[in-house]
Amino acid sequence: MTFALHGIPVSNGIAIGKAVLISRAALEVSHYLIEVGKEEAEAKKLLDAFEQVRLELAQLRQGLPKDAPQEMAAFLDVHGMILADPALAEKPLKLIRTQRLNAAWALTTELNDLLEQFAEIEDAYLKERANDIRQVAERVLKALNAQQKETLSDSDVLSPSDVGADAIIVAHDIAPHDMLRFKEHAFTGFVTDLGGKTSHTAIVARSMEIPAVVGVRHASEMIRHGDWLVIDGEHGVVVVAPDEQLLSEYRVLQEKAIQATSKLQELKHSRTTTVDHVAIELLANIELPEDATQAVDLGAIGVGLFRSEFLFMDRKQALPDEEQQYQEYRRVVDLMHGLPVNIRTIDVGADKALGSGSDLSETGTSPLGLRAIRWSLTEPEIFLTQLRAILRASAHGQARIMIPMLAHVKEIDETLRLIEKAKQQLHQRGQAFNPNIQVGAMIEIPAAALVLPLFINRFDFLSIGTNDLIQYTLAIDRADHAVAHLYDPFHPAILNLLFSIIDQAKRSNIPVAVCGEMAGDPSMTKLLLGLGLTDFSMHFSQLLLVKREILKADVGLLKSRIGAVLRAIEPEEQAAALEILLS
Ligand code: PEP
Ligand code: MG
Repeated sequence: MTFALHGIPVSNGIAIGKAVLISRAALEVSHYLIEVGKEEAEAKKLLDAFEQVRLELAQLRQGLPKDAPQEMAAFLDVHGMILADPALAEKPLKLIRTQRLNAAWALTTELNDLLEQFAEIEDAYLKERANDIRQVAERVLKALNAQQKETLSDSDVLSPSDVGADAIIVAHDIAPHDMLRFKEHAFTGFVTDLGGKTSHTAIVARSMEIPAVVGVRHASEMIRHGDWLVIDGEHGVVVVAPDEQLLSEYRVLQEKAIQATSKLQELKHSRTTTVDHVAIELLANIELPEDATQAVDLGAIGVGLFRSEFLFMDRKQALPDEEQQYQEYRRVVDLMHGLPVNIRTIDVGADKALGSGSDLSETGTSPLGLRAIRWSLTEPEIFLTQLRAILRASAHGQARIMIPMLAHVKEIDETLRLIEKAKQQLHQRGQAFNPNIQVGAMIEIPAAALVLPLFINRFDFLSIGTNDLIQYTLAIDRADHAVAHLYDPFHPAILNLLFSIIDQAKRSNIPVAVCGEMAGDPSMTKLLLGLGLTDFSMHFSQLLLVKREILKADVGLLKSRIGAVLRAIEPEEQAAALEILLS
């Protein structure tokens, strides 16, 4: 039966393909389809893992010291009983045999189902049992993972041959670095239950230039593995099991979108100036060094934001050392042939967890927690290592240092002190770097925007991170679909804040860019030009769309009309002023 689901559109285009369901916890484990004929071997792996855990629990129970608390024995008994209940293995075994899911994926799928059933139970005692089930399942997963390490290489996980190029990933949620892993695979679209328009998962999906819809709430429950899907990434619609007529209508739309994209290529080599001859700078946001090649090809005149944390977020790898980082930064600098490259220092925390299980300070999962420069300053050795790597890359081109999420004078002082220290260390080693490397600050916390002179006096350039500036000004978690409707770039507070930052920076002759998603949204281009912005940094897939708007814009006219937009507080008044601005 055909039905449609609605979510938040994050990446344009139409995708048509078959659903590949990734279960909620499955991203913590490997997920792949096993080869036909290997179902029984996989089922045995699961049963072996159950047996291994049974023995472990029995040993623990036997080895309990006499003075161990009584609850300990009871706890192990409960776990033993859960494990012995054939129901726990029954469904995963069925999933292995009928859908060819690997054992860990099958078990996590069943675990999620059970946890959801328990969440609905009123009885507090029974509800508590959900934790026991989770702990038992996690033990089995651990045993499976240990087996798997011996038999499976990383490249086997979700290999493109397992799921064809027409696969559409459907998941409850996908962490940004997992999303990045998918970049190597030939998928055609993404649908997730959670997420907001500027969540990092959405940003990475956009960078993959494939249609994506997030915040679809119950998509992963309502869509079945193998269902045909159409994703309309522009309108946030997911059509499940489309009939022939719908499919052919979407195929026509898909073809049109492809043609429109290829027509845009004609703009690649034209200058980026407005109708009234104002030169505008278009820079690229990148997550991986190799993205720089496409950025240059599409006419970016620099990298306005290199999200360096993506080099650090792979769970399976140790953090890259100075030499590895230097090689990566240098690669971008070389690919950009002398154009500026703003290497944003590690911005982990909130929706970008740091994967390594080492003894580093835990990043916060709250957007208000230990994140970005706050985290770097708690790990000065890691920060210094990164600074030295960037400084060394600056000997080969225009590498620049960009600091995320500064708000306090103390943080600014400490950051600048560590940059000087990194320079001294390189000097002592006799290694080359640019002693006058430019250092910029991201303005993404309202407090920073409100004391801008502090930043103007101490930094060489500013870059406004509107994704976070909106999140923190409006107190809306940017990754939370439940409040996504309140995430409003047009809020008068945001527009006035942006105007004030750009105006103050321009008056002080300090370069200022916007590198949040607003800069890459062509429907915002004229508004930003009217606010006085001349430097836009965005994902390269958006460069030509934004350029097309710039070529049609008259900055003088837009500036003469922006006052009415900024003064409008009531929605109707603002809508009328915006209509005049954009007319
Ligand atoms: C921003 O906050 O606007 C920004 C560009 O940084 P990130 O999206 O990586 O937080
Ligand atoms: Mg930010």
